[in-house]
Amino acid sequence: MLNLNKKVLKAGIIATVCLFSCTLCFNTATAKSRTKKSRANPKYIFYFIGDGMASVQIHAAEAYLAQLAEGDDVEGSIKADLLSMSTAFPVQGMATTFANNRFITGSAAAGTALACGMKTDINVISMDPTTSVSYNSLAEKAKEAGMKVGIISSVTINHATPAVFYSHTPTRKNYSDIANQLATSPFDFFGGGYWNNSGEDGAGMAEETAVANGFAITHSLTDLQAQANGSRVIAFDSVQDAGGHTGALYYDMDRSAVSGMSLADFTAEGIRILDNNDKGFFMMVEGGKIDWACHANDARAAIEDTIAFDDAIKEALKFYNNHPNETLIVVTGDHECGGMTLGFANTGYDTAFEILAKQTVSYEYFDANTWAAYKTAHENTTDIDADLWQIIFDNFGLDGAGLSATTDDDLTDYELEKLEAAFDKSMTGTSSNTSQEDSLLYGYYQPISVTLTHILNNRAGIAFTSYSHTGVPVMVLAKGKNESIFDGFYDNTDIAKKIAQVMRVDLNN
Ligand SMILES: [Zn+2]
Repeated sequence: MLNLNKKVLKAGIIATVCLFSCTLCFNTATAKSRTKKSRANPKYIFYFIGDGMASVQIHAAEAYLAQLAEGDDVEGSIKADLLSMSTAFPVQGMATTFANNRFITGSAAAGTALACGMKTDINVISMDPTTSVSYNSLAEKAKEAGMKVGIISSVTINHATPAVFYSHTPTRKNYSDIANQLATSPFDFFGGGYWNNSGEDGAGMAEETAVANGFAITHSLTDLQAQANGSRVIAFDSVQDAGGHTGALYYDMDRSAVSGMSLADFTAEGIRILDNNDKGFFMMVEGGKIDWACHANDARAAIEDTIAFDDAIKEALKFYNNHPNETLIVVTGDHECGGMTLGFANTGYDTAFEILAKQTVSYEYFDANTWAAYKTAHENTTDIDADLWQIIFDNFGLDGAGLSATTDDDLTDYELEKLEAAFDKSMTGTSSNTSQEDSLLYGYYQPISVTLTHILNNRAGIAFTSYSHTGVPVMVLAKGKNESIFDGFYDNTDIAKKIAQVMRVDLNN
């Protein structure tokens, strides 16, 4: 401390003297004091990755929240209720996302760029395109440097985005290989959706290995909260198997129906458990289901998961407020998904985002529960009947049978026709994603529910151009130690390189 004060004093004297003599000296003194200021690495690095999240996913959530609160009819009430992603980050950069062998990237190649600072081919997990050389990830380098490491995701914990930080394998589909690399990892905390079971030595084997490697495994928030600060934990959600959702956390809009854990729960607990180390920690948090919702063109589910992602970021911001000089928070997306946009051909300049609130469950929950039950009970129904009109009204607020006094929610003839056609495809299972029209209308999704979300989205003034990722750039937000180096326009590999620079680690060795 005494030493530092002396240096500051000296710099001050030099600056004062030079102020009267030459600007060259002044610049030198400024450069020197800048070097001094950044000498210590930040102890705490937070890396948030919104899967499938570009600026439109963030702003759709902000516009929805504002119109829900204010309505959009009164002049002067049009605005956006900004998320912390828009208000709390002084630096907002932008990054390109292309993969080594494809312009529109996938989560494995994009994740490899974000974790290792290197381009690779589609589906490769943190290896070079020939899959003969493993790349180093920021998380591995953080561990080598003595930091604790936490990896959190709202999808399965051995899914592509979390996997790029702790594993190396030729394809993201090697789920059991990835699970075993997680189980033998030296990292300290993993949290999120239950790992995929595929592969002959799937989850059971990986859990045995993880326990032998010193991990406690928890299956509820209460169990997780009981784990001591400093312990090594793999934390799963309490609900994994219901609702056909493959081990990921539930969509945030369905979470209360099943008492599931939130991404913010995992983030808060991860921080509590990791925060007992002289050299600090590195934490990666993925909002993975923004992507899944956008693949399915479910705008409301995407919006709610974006808000849930923002809530997880708020946990890091709380931590930042207690450690402002020692923390760096970086937030980005790995790619856009769905070609989501604000504005639709039939609604022109009008928007009514608040009507999305009439959707009560995600497409996933609807398909697995409500629709599945309806279909079983109505095998021989050939047209949408009174039962289904009621279900549609209750779950999506769309009126095809005069169920409400208002006409605002009445379906148009065009919408009725689209919905009847989708109903037939869903009842008979004749939808084909190889037919050009079916693949345009339904993608790989349940025709009835994807048609319902399309109608609702479009009425709100939201549209999607794709069931896949798109090639638009993503935002890079930064707050904290060395935040200014994240300003500007660069490539996604540079995000990892910039973080490595701040951490003073070498990704190449
Ligand atoms: Zn992705």
